Amino acid sequence: MKTAIVVGAGLAGITAAQKLSDDGYQVELLEERPHIGGNVYDFKSDAGILNQKYGAHIFHTKSRTVMEYLKKYSDFFEYRHKVLGEIDGKLVPIPFNLQSLSLLFPEKEAAIIRELLLQSYGYGAKIPISDLRKNINCEIQKLADFIYEKVFLHYTEKQWQMKLEELDPDVGARVPVVISDETGYFDDEYQCMPIQGFTEMCNRMLQSPLIHTTLACDALDLISMDASGNMYFKGEKCECPVIYTGCLDRLFRYQLGTLPYRSLDFEYVELPKGEYQSIGVINYPNEHRYTRIIEFKHFTGKYDNQSTDIAYEYPCNFDDGKIPYYPVPQKKNRDLYDKYAKRAQAYPNLILLGRLAEYKYYNMDQVISSALKTISQLLGRR
Ligand SMILES: Cc1cc2nc3c(=O)[nH]c(=O)nc-3n(C[C@H](O)[C@H](O)[C@H](O)COP(=O)(O)OP(=O)(O)OC[C@H]3O[C@@H](n4cnc5c(N)ncnc54)[C@H](O)[C@@H]3O)c2cc1C
Repeated sequence: MKTAIVVGAGLAGITAAQKLSDDGYQVELLEERPHIGGNVYDFKSDAGILNQKYGAHIFHTKSRTVMEYLKKYSDFFEYRHKVLGEIDGKLVPIPFNLQSLSLLFPEKEAAIIRELLLQSYGYGAKIPISDLRKNINCEIQKLADFIYEKVFLHYTEKQWQMKLEELDPDVGARVPVVISDETGYFDDEYQCMPIQGFTEMCNRMLQSPLIHTTLACDALDLISMDASGNMYFKGEKCECPVIYTGCLDRLFRYQLGTLPYRSLDFEYVELPKGEYQSIGVINYPNEHRYTRIIEFKHFTGKYDNQSTDIAYEYPCNFDDGKIPYYPVPQKKNRDLYDKYAKRAQAYPNLILLGRLAEYKYYNMDQVISSALKTISQLLGRR
């Protein structure tokens, strides 16, 4: 019987396990949390509302392959995500767009700047804040400085405890300034949420009797490696594929140093009212210690409940007992990661997959796409 070991039951590990089992592999899936799903885990709260335990997760993708794959395991309803940000006491669209401009600037000034932006970039353009700040027109520069301070500066300090310039340029580019009145957060063709939730979708992906899942189990208590490229499972040499989706520094017992992460704390509150805020996510770039307030019922498409659940999201250090949510996107960290990845190449049956093992800011669809490709390459080789 062909066998494989998969460490981590997040989307990367679950997709890998599903594809391997489809090909007749007996899969040992090991997860240290008491549940499957990794960071997309959701659950019904006391109020009966689907809550997301590890922060707001909104599905969006340009990939038809990923969408078709997931539709085998869940029904979806269309959900177009929008975000507001509290700036100078007003709630305005984020990413900052022409509507945000009208809401925050006096009418005449807003009209002049709008015209200048349209002349410079054209309607619909998406401009990274770093590029907007380089515009030679002084009115646009003034706007760029305003947006930089009110949307990026303090938010980035709260989120990363760093200035935007200290992080890789793509961090700022993820939330561009949008020269348009459209308020959607994403522009992907498919934007939808699983009707029964992500956990149920993951459950269905693991239905094969060939997949054996063990929860609350640190796989590194069972897996060991020697210096000659051999891996061992429960003390026995193992030559089967080992798909690893945890932190790479941890797999190598931090021999080369620790890879930095940022973590989050969530404060969940149930409120005896139908609705707390008009949309799912409101950002607080400037005031408060939290960066966002999430109201979960907006992600379910169901509004009939008389109560509502919200969560305050607080960025924090990745200390003992915390979850490694975000790899810190800086060159020196990527360089350290590359050293670990080089070391991993000495182990022919080890495959690194997912956000932690690849130390990448992957969205859900990117993780699934990468897992589908990696496993089909593996199967093609055998
Ligand atoms: C706050 C937040 C919001 C996000 N919002 C979105 C969004 O809106 N849209 C979107 O597309 N993406 C979003 N993402 C990204 C999304 O969470 C990831 O793309 C996806 O969940 C990554 O899946 P993964 O399997 O790679 O990692 P994870 O979900 O982290 O899964 C890894 C699993 O491995 C387990 N593990 C690690 N080490 C061991 C070990 N030694 N033994 C056993 N198990 C182990 C962990 O417990 C975990 O369950 C968000 C991420 C965060 C942090």
